[in-house]
Amino acid sequence: MEYVLTTDELCKNYKYCKALNRLSMHVPKGAIYGLVGRNGAGKTTLIRLICGLQEPTSGEYTLFGRKNTEKQVVASRRRMGAVIETPAVYTDMTAVENLKQQYRILGLPSFEGIKEILELVGLADTGKKKAKHFSFGMKQRLGIAIALCGDPDFLVLDEPANGLDPQGIIDIRELILKLNKERQVTVLVSSHILEELSKFATHYGFVDGGRIVKELSAKELEASCRKCMHVEVSDVRILARVLDAKGLEYSIWSENAVDIYAQIGVTELVGELLTEGCELYSITEKDESLESIYVSLVGGGGDA
Ligand code: ATP
Repeated sequence: MEYVLTTDELCKNYKYCKALNRLSMHVPKGAIYGLVGRNGAGKTTLIRLICGLQEPTSGEYTLFGRKNTEKQVVASRRRMGAVIETPAVYTDMTAVENLKQQYRILGLPSFEGIKEILELVGLADTGKKKAKHFSFGMKQRLGIAIALCGDPDFLVLDEPANGLDPQGIIDIRELILKLNKERQVTVLVSSHILEELSKFATHYGFVDGGRIVKELSAKELEASCRKCMHVEVSDVRILARVLDAKGLEYSIWSENAVDIYAQIGVTELVGELLTEGCELYSITEKDESLESIYVSLVGGGGDA
């Protein structure tokens, strides 16, 4: 497998703590890699290191095949865009001016592509509005737009959903998916909310106490979660009969509730239940076990 980023026993020591403690991880090319862990687990430290903002105490990492100790890692880093903690936005400038400024910083020969980036992040119509008048979500998207200058093929986002309202979270998620699918951008995104990451990540690294305690693919996570459909009906016996006839696996929880371990055709099920005189009250996808996996891997409770 081809990797955009690998780290090998990375350590970062501060006076009183080991922020990273022999952290090893592997981000495959084309992945949306969710780095998940509690506050203080070491996510931001790792991201600062791979962006070259800090040096590791020991261990090494490889970016696009170049070790951090090689000179050529500078070229690899030009293929990266990042938003770390709060987005670096000039608040007295418009969206276009912010991007032009970033183009200048990167030494790009023309302003070509700015309009396209702003369209991509949904800020093409902000005109003369200065960034200080943007909503929090718009500022976050402007931060991503700035990180996209120079056409990176690896995007690193540190807790991009932090502080956003539900619509803002959806916007960021859709943007990440679009960048990944349409532009083949590999994305590393950190979060302390596994459920949010599980809506788009293809791979996961669970970080705790400065090290990766588990790496797995979305498929592997899904298999260990065993998602199910939680169905509530007026008569569970009728539902059980219908499910038995279909040969589907299920568990009965109460007189009205059943978990079905399969994808079911809702319209067909409603029809079949109705002809038997059974009413369908609700149907929801249940993946609570995400939470139990998270707790078993990185523990619950407060800060790390
Ligand atoms: P959060 O989600 O809260 O940002 P995180 O997973 O990103 O958490 P880090 O910010 O990387 O965690 O912090 C990891 C550990 O390193 C924490 O215990 C933190 O207190 C410590 N730490 C981070 N930066 C420094 C620093 N400059 N000096 C001393 N300790 C630090």
